[in-house]
Amino acid sequence: MIIRKTPQQVDQMAAAGEILVRCLKMLEAKTRAGITTLELDEAAEKFIRSQGAEPAFKGYRGFPGSICASPNSMVVHGIPDRTPLQRGDLLAIDVGVVKDGWVADAAMTVPVGTVTAEAEKLLAVTKGALFVGIDQARPGNHLGDIGHAIQRHVEAEGLSVIRTLVGHGIGREMHEEPQVPNFGEPGRGPELEEGMVLAIEPMVNAGGPLVRMGDDGWAVYSEDDSLAAHFEFTVAITPDGPRILTPWHEA
Ligand code: MG
Repeated sequence: MIIRKTPQQVDQMAAAGEILVRCLKMLEAKTRAGITTLELDEAAEKFIRSQGAEPAFKGYRGFPGSICASPNSMVVHGIPDRTPLQRGDLLAIDVGVVKDGWVADAAMTVPVGTVTAEAEKLLAVTKGALFVGIDQARPGNHLGDIGHAIQRHVEAEGLSVIRTLVGHGIGREMHEEPQVPNFGEPGRGPELEEGMVLAIEPMVNAGGPLVRMGDDGWAVYSEDDSLAAHFEFTVAITPDGPRILTPWHEA
């Protein structure tokens, strides 16, 4: 069952999203060679709690961090650690915030200093895929329209969408129905209706689409060790079209 939210509830989710965006901007500014992802995690937790909110990931199924920090070929779900970032790394940062019982979820991938042209392209294409997917999040469209738009955008550039990791509905729970794949057929899947709130999150490999689990049981890597990127927004479907509840970056 897809739980639809009232406009007032969407506003409450936007309040969580506003804290999340300020957290992401703070983390983006701190991301540089020499800092560790554990330091970023500590800064995120401190900031989120200072806003009267809670980090949604902390303790989720036993996850130890307040953020997921996934460098280079790691796609998602990286546990923050003491490894210093290096110039040329890509770092995917995923943050969840709970405020007054409502959850917001967003991610971005940040270059550490100057990165390769391949990495720049991966970032641009994955971010672009997020926005073309969001543009489909309108009443009367279908869930498959979102995934189709993302897949077409990514594959046209010779990159790969990951099939086994998907976006999700979100609300009082971080993961609600429906699953939101980054691939699909236009016009297929549930019809999108006002009040649905989705975490749309293209996860893209520069190489092939397959992934493998890391030894810690959390981290997911591209199977071919190619670079990966992840961008995510929490988006509400409104009569006026998509409303981004975590607007950290201009479209
Ligand atoms: Mg998510």
